[in-house]
Formats: sequence, C-alpha cells, structure tokens
Amino acid sequence: MPGFEVFGEEEKKEIMEVLDTGVLFRYEFGEQRRGVYKVRTFEEKFAAYCGVKYGQAVTSGTAALKVALAALGVGVGDEVITQGFTFVATWEAILDVGAIPVFAEIDETLNMDPADLEKKITDRTRAIIPVHMMGAPARIEEIVAIADRHNIPVIEDTAQAAGAVLNGRRLGSFGACGTFSFDAVKTMTTGEGGMVVTNDQTLWRNMSEYHDHGHDHAVNPGGRGGEGRSFVGFNFRMMELQGAMGLAQLAKLDGMIASQRKNKAAMKEAVNQLPGVTFRTILDEAGDSATFLAFLLPDAAKTRKVNEVLAANGAGAVYFAVNTWHYYPKWEHLLGGKTLAHNGWPFADPGSKRKVVYDPQALPKSAAIMDRTLVYQVPVKLSAERLAQIRDALAKAAAAI
Ligand SMILES: *Cc1c(COP(=O)(O)O)cnc(C)c1O
Repeated sequence: MPGFEVFGEEEKKEIMEVLDTGVLFRYEFGEQRRGVYKVRTFEEKFAAYCGVKYGQAVTSGTAALKVALAALGVGVGDEVITQGFTFVATWEAILDVGAIPVFAEIDETLNMDPADLEKKITDRTRAIIPVHMMGAPARIEEIVAIADRHNIPVIEDTAQAAGAVLNGRRLGSFGACGTFSFDAVKTMTTGEGGMVVTNDQTLWRNMSEYHDHGHDHAVNPGGRGGEGRSFVGFNFRMMELQGAMGLAQLAKLDGMIASQRKNKAAMKEAVNQLPGVTFRTILDEAGDSATFLAFLLPDAAKTRKVNEVLAANGAGAVYFAVNTWHYYPKWEHLLGGKTLAHNGWPFADPGSKRKVVYDPQALPKSAAIMDRTLVYQVPVKLSAERLAQIRDALAKAAAAI
C-alpha cells in the first residue's frame, strides 16, 4: 500500500505552490491565495476518478467514516453492521457516534459474507459498512441489494482499495457513499487524510457542513457561504498541504496499481509452489488494486509451519489470525468494553449496565478462514533480489510441509 515509495518532484511542486501563496486554510483568503484551492481541486478530481459527483476531504479515513455516519443520521441506540476482519478504525467510528457495532462473518473474499449480514439485520440497524480489505472487493453488489431491500444505507470502507474496480465501477461508488484513507501507509498518501465520495447532493452538503463546525455551505456549495448554521458539527478539515499531496499522488495512482499487479503476479507464481495452497477469492481480477497477496493453506498447523520457515528465511508473511489490529477476537479493548468515559459510554448508557457484550467465539466461520490465511504486502518496487529471496523461502516452506 505504499504511495511513499514514489515521492518525487511532483509532490514538491504541488506543495511549493501552496507555500508560495502562504495560505494553508482550505477556505477563504480569497485574494491572497491567487486561485490556488488544492483541497477543493483534489476533491473534484478524486470524485471524478471514482466516477461520482461529489468528494468531501477530511483529516483521516477514520474521520471519513465518522463524518459519513453522522451525515446519515446514525446515533445513540442504533446498530451498524460491519465485518470482523477490518482495521479498528471502522468500529471506532461507529462507537464514536454512540452506535453499537455488530460484526458479520467474512467469506473467502476475506470480506463481508452477505448471507451472515442478512441474518444480523434488526430493526435497529441504521447503516452497513462492508470493508474492501486489502485492495479487493467485498461482494458489494449483493450487499447493496440486501441493504436496499431493508432500506438501509451502505458506507463502503474503501480505505485499502483506492483505484480498485468491480465490473467496470470503482469501489466506493456502489453504496450511499464510500470512504477512503490517505494515511502514511495507504496506496496513495497525504500523510494523514481521508475522503468521502457520493452521488447524493444532500448527503454531501451535510458532510461538508458537519466537518466544518456546521458552517453554512449551502449558499456556496463546496465552499463557505452565509453565517447560518443548521446543526452542530466538528472540525475534520483537510489542509492545503494535504490537498497538494493528494493531487500529486492521485496522478500516480494508476501507475502504482499497474506496478503492483505485475509484482503480485510474480509473487503469486512463487507462492504456487506450496502444496495444497489456494488463493483468496478475487471477484474481478482485472480490477484488483493488487496491494496484497493473500493465500490459504489446508489447515492451521500447516499455515503456522509455513510462516515459521518463511520468517526464518527473511520472507515472513502477515498472519492476521494473531494480529491485534485487524481481527475481532484480538480486540481486547472492544471485547472488554474499555473506555475513558467514567460512565462507561459508549458501551453503556449513562447510569445503566453494559449494552452489549462481545463473545470472542462469535465468528467461527471467520476464524476457520483467518487461521489458514497468510498475506504478503505487494510493493510498488520489487527488486529481483527480493523476489528471489521470497521464492527461495517459499521453496523451503514447501519442502517442510
Ligand atoms: C487505514 C484504515 C482506516 C483508517 O484510516 P486512517 O486514515 O488511518 O484514519 C479505516 N479503515 C480501514 C480498513 C483502514 O485500513
């Protein structure tokens, strides 16, 4: 996921244009900025790239989820369904608006299992957040169809899949809105930053105003207008230096993805040496952003053995089953309902007991998949030496099982 691998003159030029104006704020300073609106231009270009009408830049991918949930009216007492394999940010945002995260199983796409999603919908479900983990699509068409039947909006957490395509459409453009992260390790990066894209003008305007303290943006869509306020908001504004970085990185996104696809194919061929190996289900190989290569061994013991040998030979893979940031049974702060709030919020309503208890065994289907899954991150730049090292390590692992 490494936009930092390709920093160059383009990023420097964009940033210098901002410094030359002296304006770091995305709004106002009309004369001083001499027509330079980096964040606004980035929003327009990113939305167009995704094939949608509107983009709302924010300070992070986590903020993008929070702003989307707030603008959709999600709050205390509501349930939001996501999946048990994702980065903690997805459910942090749900808790932060006071709602309760409900976790669905994953299938071999390593993303949300639509059948389990449908079972978990209740009359309190107010949003569904499928995540396009590791660069490739969830079964988003099926998920949106289920959500539509129940009249529930879908927020696509596309933090890890900028630029990926399913059946000719960009991920992030299927649901009510799609959220993106441009943090330091994502495919395209602004250091910290995020975006929500949508075709819904009302939703966009609510996001725009909410992320800017509730300032009235209706008079001047995309900018600040009058002095009125329709509701309370917060500050999740992106600054001009990040917008400048975003423009330079967006221009490189397709090139990065093309390199990753080439490197992933070479790595996949090397992984194929493992007896009994299978690969994660990718719904649209041609649209894969190819940020990660995920492969499955026949059982958990073999998976651990393979990774031991890989690690001993300088090519260890990520074993998400033991990773504490991305997998439900390992989120001890969630399972334990740990919060700084003296009254237990958001796990408890003030004055009452825990609203929800999370059982670490609640997702057996996900566990059966995660226990057998190993993952390599695919770099933009892969040297012949590194590829040879990975290939040799895999040959040794193949001989060991
Ligand atoms: C990175 C990430 C986020 C959060 O993005 P930040 O910009 O780091 O806040 C959200 N969801 C997923 C799936 C991510 O990988």
